Amino acid sequence: LMDVLDYGAQVHPKAEIVSATVEGGVHRQTYRETRHRVARLAHALVALGVKPGDRVATIAWNGYRHMELYYAIAGIGAVCHTINPRLPADQMAYIVNHADDTLIFFDTTFTPLITGLRDQFPAHTRYVAMTDRAHMPDGDDLLCYEEQLEGQPDQYHWPELDENTACALCYTSGTTGNPKGALYSHRSCLLQALFALAGSNGVFRVGDRILPVVPMFHVNAWGLPYAAPLTGCSLIMPGPALDGASLFDLMDREKVSGAWGVPTVWMGLLTEMKERGRKPGELRQVLIGGSAPPRSMLRAFEQDYGIEAMQGWGMTEMNPTGSMGILVEGEDQLPLEERLDIKSSAGRRLFGVRMKLVDDDGREVTQDGEAVGELYVKGPTVIKAYFNNEEANAKAFDKDGWFATGDMASLTEDGTLHIVDRAKDLIKSGGEWISSIDLENLAAAHPDVAECAVIGVPHPKWDERPLLIVVPRPGAGQDKQALLDHMGESIAKWQLPDDVLFVEELPHTATGKVSKRHLRDRYGDHLA
Ligand code: ATP
Ligand code: MG
Repeated sequence: LMDVLDYGAQVHPKAEIVSATVEGGVHRQTYRETRHRVARLAHALVALGVKPGDRVATIAWNGYRHMELYYAIAGIGAVCHTINPRLPADQMAYIVNHADDTLIFFDTTFTPLITGLRDQFPAHTRYVAMTDRAHMPDGDDLLCYEEQLEGQPDQYHWPELDENTACALCYTSGTTGNPKGALYSHRSCLLQALFALAGSNGVFRVGDRILPVVPMFHVNAWGLPYAAPLTGCSLIMPGPALDGASLFDLMDREKVSGAWGVPTVWMGLLTEMKERGRKPGELRQVLIGGSAPPRSMLRAFEQDYGIEAMQGWGMTEMNPTGSMGILVEGEDQLPLEERLDIKSSAGRRLFGVRMKLVDDDGREVTQDGEAVGELYVKGPTVIKAYFNNEEANAKAFDKDGWFATGDMASLTEDGTLHIVDRAKDLIKSGGEWISSIDLENLAAAHPDVAECAVIGVPHPKWDERPLLIVVPRPGAGQDKQALLDHMGESIAKWQLPDDVLFVEELPHTATGKVSKRHLRDRYGDHLA
């Protein structure tokens, strides 16, 4: 791992990490400078008592100090546990105790969060504010990041680590239950970066400027600390500035060429692009994943702004990418709608990630693009087990070590993946299945719809029926029938939602996905 950073520093001396900071400024440093600071940080970690295998946590935005922590913690053989700051308090307390973090590094934005939760964290845990002396928050026992680095040597004798040594820990989004810890090895992270580089159709080119909107505290950014220095790309870190307008300005100013994020983030950016009537800077490619992007979103990027939109499918357990929407030879010449047909899938499997489909009885389903089964995956980037969680492990792996994703999918012969739905979200209506993702896709294409979700709710006669919940666009009408008529143009009547609810906002999980669990709790008896 440390060779990745060394390589970047040596071969690409001009590439840099640019960060929007919590204090509202912008910080720049090259990989060369980063390498020295990482060495000093490694000395500081050891001085603070961190031992190989210890978990060291971060609660932080995407920023240069966060990157330094990725490298230094992993480099000394400890485990970097990235925590999502938006987790509900009980889930955060659960995972910090479960991981038993020895140190927690935090951005000062999260000082109140730390102060409020400390009582529920382990007694031996210590806290480091990721700032300099001038900006230290109150609290006498809080340590200061820059102060820890002061006076440390800027060379470190990195240990030779076995490639299977754990280097990172990330808990799942908690969309379907309590978060589960996914533990990654150096090998898995490096291979994921290489697989993604091989499969991403030139997103990373020397001199490119990549902006991970996907938070580093979520696994989605793990390939980046490896892929960027290797290929000579600069990393543009948005810090806390994640709304459409701030992102647009940052992308514009820093001439960002490619960016990664979840659909919700791209909705904000697209609104901003529409208002300003142009795309930001030199944006050429966006990668959309985490949940299914509506076709209308893919079309807006491609048709209105000439930006290549690629869908990716992945999971925390896969570190994180399993498939990407690359076009193979000749496909980029196809007419837009045909291209969108291809891009509306979850893309083609990445090299190194094997896939199979399994039915309810555990039999393998043919990969003919039609038959649907639960998707199982296997490969060096897939976790071997959840961290300290025998119960989840027993459920998640079959006897040959294949990992059950919980997603229902079909696969074509050429390795194109279609995610039908999460098994838990699939709507069972009178013995037939309805995909909530398909219905959301149709509803999202209606101009009055800003965001929407479909859930299955218990129904006295049909077992379950779809319910559509819509956040209307500002100023738009709330015409149920118009919406259903629009959807009815593309699907059979029995698949149409039984009712439409208009709401001000949808509940989101800590990673920005619509939380259908909460919607089911709230509206579960709507059709009873
Ligand atoms: P938890 O496992 O804790 O319930 P989670 O599954 O949301 O939470 P993640 O690992 O962040 O945690 O998300 C992975 C899931 O996100 C996948 O299993 C899949 O259901 C969904 N997903 C990711 N990318 C896509 C995509 N392109 N299309 C459809 N679904 C997607
Ligand atoms: Mg999951």
